[in-house]
Amino acid sequence: MAIDATLPYDDDNIFAKILRGEIPNKTVYEDEHALAFHDINPQAPQHILVIPKGKYVSWDDFSAKASDAEIGGFVRAVGHVAREAGMVEPGYRLLANVGHDSHQEVPHLHVHIFSGKPLGPMLVRG
Ligand code: AMP
Repeated sequence: MAIDATLPYDDDNIFAKILRGEIPNKTVYEDEHALAFHDINPQAPQHILVIPKGKYVSWDDFSAKASDAEIGGFVRAVGHVAREAGMVEPGYRLLANVGHDSHQEVPHLHVHIFSGKPLGPMLVRG
């Protein structure tokens, strides 16, 4: 179900539980600011999620309230993960859903990284 990205942060969301180690994940990369892990329901041959360690509901919340260090660390982590996975030469796609109309389901900011096949033109289906 899509979430309301204007609501306060919910400590019981599934990615908060992953960050606390209460739910297992297939970690790809971790540093001070970010955790990257494989999506449980991949939509491409490679589908990795990168999340900030701080409590941010969405890209909107993060871009408005995170510190420059958190934002810099997170953006660099996304680039690092894609580079280390060999995605730069073939290419990859980034996606961050925000709120109801985007169908964001987990209320903790996550950037999807898709790669591993030609992904076709960007589609926004109705
Ligand atoms: P979104 O629709 O942008 O909120 O995407 C949420 C993503 O989280 C989906 O692609 C799900 O497959 C993924 N997801 C949900 N639970 C887990 C989990 N426990 N481990 C890894 N990925 C998950």
